[in-house]
Amino acid sequence: MTVTRQKSITKPPTVKPTLKKKRVVSPEVMEKGRIGLEKWRKAKAAAKLKGGKALQLWEIAEKLKKELKNTSPLQAIRNFCLQCVETRDDITNCTSYKCPIYIYRPYQESNET
Ligand code: SF4
Repeated sequence: MTVTRQKSITKPPTVKPTLKKKRVVSPEVMEKGRIGLEKWRKAKAAAKLKGGKALQLWEIAEKLKKELKNTSPLQAIRNFCLQCVETRDDITNCTSYKCPIYIYRPYQESNET
């Protein structure tokens, strides 16, 4: 009796093609975006027309808006607390337990009792 060995052929993993869902944006959102862009272009054109300091201020404001978009939630909470109180120690010693971000405030002492 002869024993035949079966060759184990490993099949490459089959990759199912994933269909990317087409992003659907509602017409209301599209309209809102169009209006916002139009408003922004008008403001830019007005600043350019005025020139000088008005243009500089507009550019600074736009740069600030761009930077604020990159703010992380933690940075946002820290900034919010720094608007409320003045120093880091004030945030640490904050006693406004009813504040909605009280438990998320930065600079908390780790071994509070
Ligand atoms: S947690 Fe305290 S410091 Fe921060 S915003 Fe609230 S009250 Fe102000």
